[in-house]
Amino acid sequence: MADYLICGGTSYVPEDGNTGAQMFASGEGLTYNDFIILPGFIDFTAEEVDLTSALTKKISLKAPLVSSPMDTVTESEMAIAMALCGGIGIIHHNCTPEFQAQEVMKVKKYKHGFIRDPVCLTPHHRVSDVFHVKKSHGFGGIPITEDGKMGSRLLGIITSRDIDFLEPNSDKLLSEEMTPFDDLVTAPAGVSLDKANEILQRSKKVGAAIGTRDSDKQRLELLVNAGVDVVVLDSSQGNSIYQINLIRYIKNTYPELQIVGGNVVTAAQAKNLIDAGVDSLRVGMGSGSICITQEVMAVGRPQATAVYKVAEYARRFGVPVMADGGIGSVGHIIKALALGASTVMMGSLLAGTSEAPGEYFFSNGVRLKKYRGMGSLEAMERKNTQGAAADRYFHGEGDGIKVAQGVSGSIVDKGSILRFLPYLVCGIQHGCQDIGAKSCSMLRSMMYAGELKFEKRTISAQREGNVHSLYSHEKRLY
Ligand code: 5GP
Repeated sequence: MADYLICGGTSYVPEDGNTGAQMFASGEGLTYNDFIILPGFIDFTAEEVDLTSALTKKISLKAPLVSSPMDTVTESEMAIAMALCGGIGIIHHNCTPEFQAQEVMKVKKYKHGFIRDPVCLTPHHRVSDVFHVKKSHGFGGIPITEDGKMGSRLLGIITSRDIDFLEPNSDKLLSEEMTPFDDLVTAPAGVSLDKANEILQRSKKVGAAIGTRDSDKQRLELLVNAGVDVVVLDSSQGNSIYQINLIRYIKNTYPELQIVGGNVVTAAQAKNLIDAGVDSLRVGMGSGSICITQEVMAVGRPQATAVYKVAEYARRFGVPVMADGGIGSVGHIIKALALGASTVMMGSLLAGTSEAPGEYFFSNGVRLKKYRGMGSLEAMERKNTQGAAADRYFHGEGDGIKVAQGVSGSIVDKGSILRFLPYLVCGIQHGCQDIGAKSCSMLRSMMYAGELKFEKRTISAQREGNVHSLYSHEKRLY
């Protein structure tokens, strides 16, 4: 007797993989590397994937990318680059309130000039024509008009970001590659430069971090006057009376200002901050690359579990979640979003770029930049002269013995963030395509509907999923 079942037609598909709820039901803490997402069905191109995501209840971003408020990651240069690529930068607060407010102002006031006679192309031109214009004129952005001339109807724009991953001789039509008019922020012809910059200013978001001490209220006042859009309450354990009181104060004093509370890793912690009125939650404790909290304090949570548990609770109240720390690759970003996060916050992935604060230096012939935890002794000691790094780790105490929760290190030169961010965006789009999710919000709803399937990975499965069995290899990502 044959040992198999015969079913009618091909309509029967056996249950395969686990839903998010099933994967996290066992009570073990999982990291991003501990699981994999099973592929879905593709009926759209990767470029069509819409990455629009909620940063807070009232602010949405074109790309779900946030740079961390660390003094080796985000000052104005990083925040400008993040905003130009559709994300947001959060200016750190390990500096005087005046310096921080000035950095916020630099992002908000960052101005473009007018180009009155730009080279234009039509939707029927090819990608190779853009490379040709770039080579001969040096322009990275070209308006696409109906007849390829200035003055006719604007149909879209093509920028380096759209074609970076294509061959210079590609004959793809620009109509397929350009950002269409509907997705552009535009102003009517004849608008003054001031007015145009005002429009840009409104569409360019910047955030800043503060601590939860009384003195942070004066810092906040300066930041609000400088035009900050969102404030991040920077605490490694956010479930405290100090943070709750500050949230209430901010909601009373600046009702329009959006607040990201945190950090939290459990639903119980999240509940208190949601009840106090936060507009978003930052999730992560001890998962950062420079972090020793779990080792020193014995407290924290593996990041994949933390993101899933908090997001699953917070969504009932319409509060978006930012997955903070432990993002080491595009795959980790996709996993965080698939577990319910709306945005991801990154430190090490963005450090070492030319837009990160600090000077490059050489060690053994390698070009490096400093990257350090805000809870490292080195960063906390800067407090005496300039700022407030230690406030993230000490709740309401004076200047006693500091117990380090982070380390100081270095990171290899990554070049400009303006090349790296388009790679991240494109990578996320491709991951969503493989999963069969046409947008970030669809990815989340597929997960909550139980359509998205996961599988845990054994140590050997993780080894198999990485490069193996080679004598040597070069890992170039973009
Ligand atoms: P990464 O992206 O490098 O893995 O992690 C960055 C995140 O680590 C930051 O956004 C912040 O939440 C966290 N972080 C920054 N500095 C420290 C530190 O000194 N100690 C701990 N425990 N976490 C840190």
